[in-house]
Amino acid sequence: MSRVTKWLSVGLISLLAVFMLAACGGKETSGDSKGTGKDTLASIKDRDKIIFGVKTDTRLFGLKNPSSGDIEGFDIDIAKQIAKDILGDEKKAEFKEVTSKTRIPMLQNGDIDAITATMTITDERKKEVDFSDVYFEAGQSLLVKKGSSIKSTEDLKKGSKVLAVKGSTSSQNIREKAPDASVLEFENYAEAFTALKAGQGDALTTDNAILYGMADENKQYQLTGGTFTDEPYGIAVKKGQSGLVKEINASLKKMKADGRYGKIYKKWIKEEPAK
Ligand code: GLU
Repeated sequence: MSRVTKWLSVGLISLLAVFMLAACGGKETSGDSKGTGKDTLASIKDRDKIIFGVKTDTRLFGLKNPSSGDIEGFDIDIAKQIAKDILGDEKKAEFKEVTSKTRIPMLQNGDIDAITATMTITDERKKEVDFSDVYFEAGQSLLVKKGSSIKSTEDLKKGSKVLAVKGSTSSQNIREKAPDASVLEFENYAEAFTALKAGQGDALTTDNAILYGMADENKQYQLTGGTFTDEPYGIAVKKGQSGLVKEINASLKKMKADGRYGKIYKKWIKEEPAK
C-alpha cells in the first residue's frame, strides 16, 4: 500500500468513526428517559418503573411526610394506580420532586416520564406537552387571613399585593383578573404560604384545591370569593408519546369504573367526585 493510500484510508476510517458517533449521539437525544432511544412507554416497560414528577410541598396533592419521608396526596395515589395498571404493581411508581416552574423542563430532558402535579391542561401548554384526559377539576381562588378586607378579586386594587408561584396558570390569570394589583412570585407553594403568613402580601392565589390544604393547615386563613377560572388537571407526557397517553387514559377510565378513583377522591378531597 502506498503511503498516500494508507493516509487516505486512515482519514476515511476516522471520518466514518465521527459519523457513527454523531449518529449514536443523535439517537440518544431523540429517545426518552436518558438516552434509551425508545419511546417512553417502551422505556418504562424495560426498566419496570414509571418516574412521575410530583409536588412535595402541596398538602392534599403531593406532600412529603417529614417523619416517614414518603410523599403523600391525591396525585401520588393516582400515579400509584397508573403504575399498578401499566406495570402490575403500585410500588413501581417512583417519584421525583417538581415545582410548577421545573415540571415541563424536567419532562423534556427525560428526568421524569410523566407529570402528576396539579397541572392544568391549557392550549399554551399543549404546544409543549401532551395531556391525558382530565382527572381532577379545580378552579382558581384566593386565600386571605380571616377578617381581611379582601373578599374577592374586585378588592385587589392598586397597592394590593398578591402572592403566586412561578410557572403557574394562577400567576398569569390573576394579572388579567386584577391588573392593578402587584403580583409577587415564589418558587413553590410552601414559600408563597410562608410569605403570606409573614404579611408579605394581601392574598395568595392558586387553585382552590391547593388553598384548601393551606387553610386546613392554618385555621387563621380562609378561601374567599369563590373560583374565577376552570383548572382541569391532566397528566402531562412528552409530546408525541401517544402510546403512554393511551395507557394512562385506559388506567384512569378503569380506576373510575372499579371505584379506586372514588376512594382516592374521598380520602383527600373529603367528598364524592362529581359524576
Ligand atoms: N393548576 C395550576 C397550574 O397548573 C396551578 C397549580 C400549580 O401551580 O401547579 O399552573
